[in-house]
Amino acid sequence: MTAAGGLPALESNPVEPFLRMDRMPHIWCPGCGIGTTVNCFIRALLDSGADRQNLTVVSGIGCTGRVAGYLRLDSFHTTHGRAIPFATGLKLANPKLNVVVYSGDGDLTAIGGNHLIHAARRNLDLKVICVNNLIYGMTGGQTAPTTPRDVITSTAPYGTFDANFNLPHLMDAAGAVYVARWTVYHVKQLARAMAEALSKKGFSFIEVISPCPTLYQRRNGQGDGLNALQHYKQVSVVRHGAPTQEVGIGRHGEIAVGKFVDRVRPDYQELRRAHLQESLGGRYADTLHLEECECPS
Ligand code: SF4
Ligand code: MG
Repeated sequence: MTAAGGLPALESNPVEPFLRMDRMPHIWCPGCGIGTTVNCFIRALLDSGADRQNLTVVSGIGCTGRVAGYLRLDSFHTTHGRAIPFATGLKLANPKLNVVVYSGDGDLTAIGGNHLIHAARRNLDLKVICVNNLIYGMTGGQTAPTTPRDVITSTAPYGTFDANFNLPHLMDAAGAVYVARWTVYHVKQLARAMAEALSKKGFSFIEVISPCPTLYQRRNGQGDGLNALQHYKQVSVVRHGAPTQEVGIGRHGEIAVGKFVDRVRPDYQELRRAHLQESLGGRYADTLHLEECECPS
């Protein structure tokens, strides 16, 4: 098939209807991995047949925080570290919503770290996608809670020396029902994990290891985005079901990827309803109108 002028017709990109094209070009640097994660997320929506009318994406602040603004979905770009409280309010007000929190390691695990662990503890029905580039990106390449030891950052010119978070272990210990990690090299596995999390009830956490060539790779002599992908390919080891205490990330050495946790336990709203039913008995029915949102689907 040819277009006018005899040139081959371009097939439409299936991802494009999910993007606010009027917001392009995006702000991300060449070689940044965040755009790849967005592509995977949209593929996951397409493959899983997720109901877009009842899906909401909430982001915090930072380079990954911009994702919400680029998606043609109901989406919210919220304040720094507060994506999870915002998402919690949405979910409690309208339990029918599938609420996705999409943010970076600095936003979710530093200023938002307290919210993260408590949402996992309560098993709120949220799907959290954490793009972990091991550093604060947008604010200038400072050391983050996820930065491994012996890394040069703008706040550690002689190298970092304190311990970094092992996010899968943190989430496992806090009570998340689904915990996985992939890198932006593993696009098919990442899209599959996102689709799986979208249909899983309870608190799901997917860590995506992603390069920040501008502020991490450059300062540490690790080349560009393509070098990062080659590195991920070389050092990643698939370890489904691995004990999460064994999957921490250092500057060197392997990156364990895979699905580490997949379990079932009652989510916050199930527990709450059961508790109120037990406590209030017949009177509970009188309160239902207060918690069942009448929002149009
Ligand atoms: Fe990506 Fe880093 Fe550039 Fe932010 S600063 S857009 S994380 S490469
Ligand atoms: Mg970051």
